[in-house]
Amino acid sequence: MKKFLLSLVIITTVLYGYSQKTLETFYERSGGKETPRYNQTIAFCQELAKASPMVHYTTFGKSGQGRELPLLIVDKDGLTDPSAIRKKGRVVLLVEACIHAGECEGKDAGLMLVRDMVMGNAGGTLHNTAGSGHGAPSSAFKNILDNVTLLFIPIFNVDGHERFGPYNRINQNGPKEMGWRVNAGNLNLNRDFLKAETPEMQSWLKLFNRWMPEFFIDSHTTDGADYQYVLTYLVEVFGDMDEGLTAWSSNNFVPEMKEHLLKSGFPAFPYVDYRRWHDPKSGLISEVAPPMLSQGYTALRNRPGLLIETHMLKPYNQRVEATYECIKTTMEILAKEGRQLQKLEQDADRFLVSGELLKKPFPLHYETSMKDSVMVDFLGFEYSASKSEVSGGEWIKYSKTPSTFRSPYFAQAKPVVSVNLPLAYIIPVEWAEIITRLELHGAVIRRTSRDTVISIQTYKFKNPKWQQSPYEGHHAVTNIEYDEITEDRLIPKGSAIVETNQQCGRIIPHFLEPKGNGSMLYWGYFDAVFEQKEYGENYVIEQLAVNMLAEDAGLRKEFEAKKASDTVFAKSPSNILNWFYNKSPYVDSRKGIYPVARIFDRKILEALEK
Ligand SMILES: [Zn+2]
Repeated sequence: MKKFLLSLVIITTVLYGYSQKTLETFYERSGGKETPRYNQTIAFCQELAKASPMVHYTTFGKSGQGRELPLLIVDKDGLTDPSAIRKKGRVVLLVEACIHAGECEGKDAGLMLVRDMVMGNAGGTLHNTAGSGHGAPSSAFKNILDNVTLLFIPIFNVDGHERFGPYNRINQNGPKEMGWRVNAGNLNLNRDFLKAETPEMQSWLKLFNRWMPEFFIDSHTTDGADYQYVLTYLVEVFGDMDEGLTAWSSNNFVPEMKEHLLKSGFPAFPYVDYRRWHDPKSGLISEVAPPMLSQGYTALRNRPGLLIETHMLKPYNQRVEATYECIKTTMEILAKEGRQLQKLEQDADRFLVSGELLKKPFPLHYETSMKDSVMVDFLGFEYSASKSEVSGGEWIKYSKTPSTFRSPYFAQAKPVVSVNLPLAYIIPVEWAEIITRLELHGAVIRRTSRDTVISIQTYKFKNPKWQQSPYEGHHAVTNIEYDEITEDRLIPKGSAIVETNQQCGRIIPHFLEPKGNGSMLYWGYFDAVFEQKEYGENYVIEQLAVNMLAEDAGLRKEFEAKKASDTVFAKSPSNILNWFYNKSPYVDSRKGIYPVARIFDRKILEALEK
């Protein structure tokens, strides 16, 4: 019998690829050089859940190819209900790995971390001596578990993760094989937080709204210049997040996180662009992240997010260790400061619901000022530039000689496009997909109960232009110009009333304002309104034009002036005939008018709902 049990353990070990006794991870067994596949990852998550009542394994949706999206919930009392957890006084941290599935540090760090949290490991920098497995948290994690519940998505982009191979990340130093950047539909999930068109993102948004985690971490690997930092980070402290949350992130979170990381041997720096690409001495730049990106999105939802970017050229095990330390440190900070953060978030939510946001123009786009910088020390490597024999371009070569550069750091962002927010937007019932997508952001939407004619404000577009090559499967609208117009409009029964004073009040304008950063109009969801749908036959309009010119001396004058000033027009019979069509009563008066209405008057809104 004993022999039978022993062989069962061995068989299980071989099948699942890890030791049941120690719960060693696949990454640890590989000596820090490899990362597990999807099935191995799920099996390990399930094993963790079996080993500890504090770990619950579940899924939160399905990918395009039908794979389950995995989620671990780590709670001291094994609770899985957000409000029950809040009643215990705990805050929730959501950690997401492998949104870019070639960048897998977060998965390997998180699996070890969950194991260490619940299996009585101290949790240090040496993880390949896995725990005793007695199933009780060590003192290192006791305070964390008392105060923080962890939601861990080990692989978000599950389909991309299974496009597995050694050649998926040309710039990256390990692991041996890894997943692919985008999902099976070739879409980047980290451009989809606002438009929410992938099944993965739609599931993620439901998860986010259900939990409203007090803090969020998204784990990545960089591309870009070489430097000494194993880990760089970004928190949205440049002006687009609520003031109280920005102050907490700048003053309470970032300094303590950096100090802990420094003590763990990982000095950290903000994730930056360079004034000249690949040239850190030229200047370092931080920018406001748009809401199509993870931490940009959560910032606008009043839930600060931390972007981790480990450095692609550092050995894989160092990147995993740094990520482990960064997540652990974040949990320690939340264990101490989580309640304060939670209170600030409640204040920030109340600010939005109260309608305070409407009192000032709402910024849609920011630009980092290139006139406003501070000098900072940046831990780089010496580099030289020479002319390439192959490309003829400048070839920057980084040496292994560490050097501290004194560089200007530009991090003062200023709004460059703003909009006056209405009390409410009305989305006509026929734009059903737009309404459904907005609901995914937690928007509270009411429906009109009958057809009503009201006075609304909206936009009439002019000179629209489209991007020639596709971006995320869309030919984005690159030129968004309009006149503001007021008109009486029939609002059909079942249309969506979206008031702006609500928790997702910072998302709604980005989503619905044409100039929003990654708006639905930008992505082409409203392209149909730009199309001319009726055309006159030439011989019909020729006669119509003769009649119109005979009847209207003013029109004749306008026509002559147009021909004189626009030679292309003057030489194009079709343009000329279309000009007359557009001056005739047959013109499509709805072309180029935005279907979404803006309401600034409370009485009009009330009339709509009577
Ligand atoms: Zn990435």
